Amino acid sequence: MKKLFITLTLVLVLPVLSNGWGFFAHKTIAQVAVYALPKTMQAFYFRHLDEIVKKSVAPDERREADPAEAPRHFIDIDHFGDDPFGAMPKAWDEATAKYTADTLRKYGTVPWTVLEVKEKLTEAFRQRDTTAIIALSADLCHYIADAHVPLHTTVNYDGQLSGQTGMHSLWESKLPERHIAKYKLDSKPAKYIKDPQAAIWAVVQESYGFLGATFDLEEVVTRNFTPETKYTFSHRYGKTRRSYSDAFADAYHDKVGGMVAYRLKQAPTAVASMWLTAWQDAGRPDLNALMSRKPGKEEKARLAAELKLWDKNELVPQNMLLAMQKEKTVERADEINSADQTPTTAPAEAAPAPTVVPAPEPASMPVAPKKVKTKVKTEAGNAKQKAKAKAKKADDGW
Ligand SMILES: [Zn+2]
Repeated sequence: MKKLFITLTLVLVLPVLSNGWGFFAHKTIAQVAVYALPKTMQAFYFRHLDEIVKKSVAPDERREADPAEAPRHFIDIDHFGDDPFGAMPKAWDEATAKYTADTLRKYGTVPWTVLEVKEKLTEAFRQRDTTAIIALSADLCHYIADAHVPLHTTVNYDGQLSGQTGMHSLWESKLPERHIAKYKLDSKPAKYIKDPQAAIWAVVQESYGFLGATFDLEEVVTRNFTPETKYTFSHRYGKTRRSYSDAFADAYHDKVGGMVAYRLKQAPTAVASMWLTAWQDAGRPDLNALMSRKPGKEEKARLAAELKLWDKNELVPQNMLLAMQKEKTVERADEINSADQTPTTAPAEAAPAPTVVPAPEPASMPVAPKKVKTKVKTEAGNAKQKAKAKAKKADDGW
């Protein structure tokens, strides 16, 4: 009974604790990133698709056990003044010389974490170390994905400084989970990145540019709601938890859904491009030689079929999005483990099955992504954000 209780507790608590994109979005990004790879890398990554998808949330799972893990997922860049991107040196050594490593770790290190993991992945490719390549590819996928989330670039990461507490999981979990069927997951193919440092900082800066709209539009939508309709309350283990209602989430999604979809589609390209860059920097090792058995007809056909579904944006309606099919993920992972002699991993985590609102028009986006560039932030939003940034940070645990 006690065991059951612990299991149930984990089931209920995990989604609340998950930060960065929710598990659902992280897994989706990992899967699409594999589809965005060039042919020379794709067969290898496809062989390990289930494992990479599963491990794409491992960095979030590590946070509980490792206090040093949390700051690797974000950078509260607005802590560093009115022109933070001008003030912050992009290279770690120069940044620590200016602000100290302790301060940087306090306010988050995601861009440097991405570069550090990219270097480790390059080394794993050089060593032809399959286990490390998979684990580090999944880690890299996670951190790059987190850098795409606007709320990972501010001290007001949960709206807690502006009376908008709960925005973090609303934006990164509830919105994509409820509306994934409307998104066009047509990420662009991977490309070699000449300057990974500049590239990841550009991602962070673009995320930051979305913050003004993220906060302002929540206020706009709030005008049509009462506190009773805006929130739902759940009572569990003697605690009351307030979260945004489904109705509010859907109304908010009408305003910012294009932004969420845009980030969700950009992240896999950035991930696949960084994988490709690490592989190329390692001298383009033959990944097919790392596979214990060559891909057979069936495996090739499966990849071709999935690529076709992806191309037609039918992964969701055809139930081929791994983030939405827990049991199949476990089954296929086991098959791969036995083939490659890797140790059996823990069962799939207990993230709840996402609630998907089916949409007849998968490509429809409430906000045109092309217009949603770095400068979405309004003047008012900008000023407010700065004011928020000055407020005391209550909790550093993201
Ligand atoms: Zn994270």
